[in-house]
Amino acid sequence: MTATQPYSGATAVVIGGSIGGLTAALLLRDLGFDVHVYERTPSALDGRGSGIVLQPDTVRWFTERSAQSLDDLSTSTGYVQYLDRDGRVEFREERRYDYTSWGTFYRALLADLGDGSYHLGEFACGFDQGTDHATVRFVSGTTVSADLVVFADGITSAARQRFDPQAKLKYSGYVGWRGTFPVRDLDPQTRAALDDAITFNVVPNSHITMYPIPGEDGTAAEYRLMNYVWYRNVPEGPELTELLTDKRGFTSP
Ligand SMILES: Cc1cc2nc3c(=O)[nH]c(=O)nc-3n(C[C@H](O)[C@H](O)[C@H](O)COP(=O)(O)OP(=O)(O)OC[C@H]3O[C@@H](n4cnc5c(N)ncnc54)[C@H](O)[C@@H]3O)c2cc1C
Repeated sequence: MTATQPYSGATAVVIGGSIGGLTAALLLRDLGFDVHVYERTPSALDGRGSGIVLQPDTVRWFTERSAQSLDDLSTSTGYVQYLDRDGRVEFREERRYDYTSWGTFYRALLADLGDGSYHLGEFACGFDQGTDHATVRFVSGTTVSADLVVFADGITSAARQRFDPQAKLKYSGYVGWRGTFPVRDLDPQTRAALDDAITFNVVPNSHITMYPIPGEDGTAAEYRLMNYVWYRNVPEGPELTELLTDKRGFTSP
């Protein structure tokens, strides 16, 4: 046991292999834990999201611990601007923002962890806590015991329901319609207007925001994607249920 690795020799299991789970696993491993991550999705997580505005907390793993450079994972813009309904600039000021894409961020965390500690297709269906270890059971039949179990299983966390049965999801009152478009395919006028800014367009009960993020092949200008999110206030009820129903007929939480 060393001062920097006070838990050397201890074991940890993380349930959920997304951004939260991977970050927890990396930090636990730095403390000395032998850590394994179990994710229910059968293949590497991809196509889940688009842009993420980088806040200092989000990037701490990369700025403080990782050998990877944040510059290789992020894009930035120099301005904040608001457009009117006709696309004319109403307000613009110099302010830097940094961005990544969900996939870029996930792949970078996974690269630091290494595939050997990351187990796909493992759905945790139950767990128990003993006096000196906790045990997790998976639908595959696998059972794993460890000194520490972390549930990073998202907003519908089954573990949270067990520890805090009163916890309920509360609808925030708006939906976001998001997507990406290759920056290189924007017409030159649109590209010049949007390329170096986070852009907002505010209309009654709704607003749109846009910013450029890394593409699948990297952060270079030719690979970048313009990320857009159109936020709309939608009251709870049938319109919301219909909006949240996917192509297979499943409704999201
Ligand atoms: C497009 C997009 C943009 C976003 N932008 C931002 C942003 O700008 N800023 C921000 O702060 N956040 C943003 N978010 C939210 C951010 O992505 C989430 O906060 C983040 O993904 C949450 O990570 P998480 O690991 O906590 O949970 P999740 O990503 O929900 O991951 C939970 C994981 O647990 C797995 N899991 C669940 N149950 C089990 C089980 N029983 N057994 C095994 N595995 C299980 C799930 O399959 C999933 O992979 C964005 C999200 C999306 C989709």
